[in-house]
Amino acid sequence: MPLADVLTRAFLRARAGYGYERGERYWKQGRVSAYAARGDTVSGVVRGSEMYRVRLLVAGGHVEADCTCPVGVSGLFCKHAVALALHHLEAGEPARGRGAAGAAAVEGCFATRGELEAWAVQHRVAFELALAADVLVPELEHAHPSAWTLRRELCLLTLRELGSLEGVRRVFGGAQLQQLAAAAVARRLAQRADEVKAGLAEERTRSAALPAAVATGAS
Ligand SMILES: [Zn+2]
Repeated sequence: MPLADVLTRAFLRARAGYGYERGERYWKQGRVSAYAARGDTVSGVVRGSEMYRVRLLVAGGHVEADCTCPVGVSGLFCKHAVALALHHLEAGEPARGRGAAGAAAVEGCFATRGELEAWAVQHRVAFELALAADVLVPELEHAHPSAWTLRRELCLLTLRELGSLEGVRRVFGGAQLQQLAAAAVARRLAQRADEVKAGLAEERTRSAALPAAVATGAS
């Protein structure tokens, strides 16, 4: 039986019990710092009080997890296994399709840095890409364990580095933060593009009205 058929949120809830909520929180905090899926085996590293190596695999029709943490080594489904499983469910499914650069296609996000830059140039908002990325802190802090750390990391980066899924993967380990950041940049650019468009339209109206006004004044 393939892993995708067995590994569901319902299964994880049932299997991990109280560990589910904690695992979900870990996943949302971007604590999955390495991830690989090969065939029916998913492996990764999850940051808890230490770095734990986790593996999920199908054995005898059900999912087995092993983790190097004290809970995981006793054979129980720990929060690290839940975090890795959720990461796999959200980000790793090959069925979602992959862009040219290997970035998963996610609605409302630029997949590659090339796409991001081309769109920004076309809509006359390329200047926005040079902004320091800490402007995104208010939109991301709920998904990050520390607003202070987040701000410190982001003030050294620009929106260009966070604005595509391809780029943001080098900054954040967790899929949720990656998507939040890429989507926040895309929204910001769209908003800026609307402002630029409105500004240009206003300028056109004004320069069209100007000669008429001058003409009336002269008569
Ligand atoms: Zn564990």
